[in-house]
Amino acid sequence: MNTDTTPAVAPETSRVIARLIDAAVAVIRANAEMLGDLDRAVGDGDHGVNMLRGFNAIAEARASISALPLTSALDAMGRLLVMSVGGASGPLYGSLLMAMGGAGARDLAPPSLREMLAAGVAAVKKRGRSDRGEKTMLDVLVPVQLAWERACAEGLAIGEAIANVKRAAEEGLAATRPLIATKGRASYLRERSIGHLDPGACSSCLLVHAACDVLLEATKP
Ligand code: ADP
Ligand code: MG
Repeated sequence: MNTDTTPAVAPETSRVIARLIDAAVAVIRANAEMLGDLDRAVGDGDHGVNMLRGFNAIAEARASISALPLTSALDAMGRLLVMSVGGASGPLYGSLLMAMGGAGARDLAPPSLREMLAAGVAAVKKRGRSDRGEKTMLDVLVPVQLAWERACAEGLAIGEAIANVKRAAEEGLAATRPLIATKGRASYLRERSIGHLDPGACSSCLLVHAACDVLLEATKP
């Protein structure tokens, strides 16, 4: 008789978590300099190195994280980001992942992802006291969440659903350019923040795209 109360981790889920980590780490490493440049224009220039520190910490813990149930893996990654990223974005990305884990989903099926995204985005809004339209990562995360919700409601095929989410992320990022920042360091620039992309929206767009590619690949037989 199995008396172990720890929920078993499906090997497939473990593999997808490891691939999500690899893809996220790769995209942050490849774009850290660009994220720094964006943050130099509207902030203090550290967004690239902040994200690199956080995702390097996740890369180091890859083996132990991917052996955890999905809920604990998301929580562990969120905690690592809070501890290592710093800046405004560390606690925000940390809240996103910890709340996604807290949603309690055991798999990455579309309805589970819908619950996770709803909980995660609500946590970022609460932590940042912010919402879409303020030139932050929420200008990507909110449309991504809505696009996924709509895709689930309409029962779209996975390929179309993921394409819609990727487009929502890109459009959300582009939409930050004409906005005046009202949150974070960029808000000190007021009107001078107009014309620049938000660095956190850019890192969110990159991470969403990386996650989407892994999730789509994982659905292929
Ligand atoms: P810091 O601003 O402390 O230097 P980072 O440069 O790492 O931290 O992160 C800046 C990013 O964090 C911004 O581009 C924005 O997307 C995000 N951000 C900052 N404040 C908020 C907030 N209150 N709500 C949502 N996102 C925010
Ligand atoms: Mg910064």
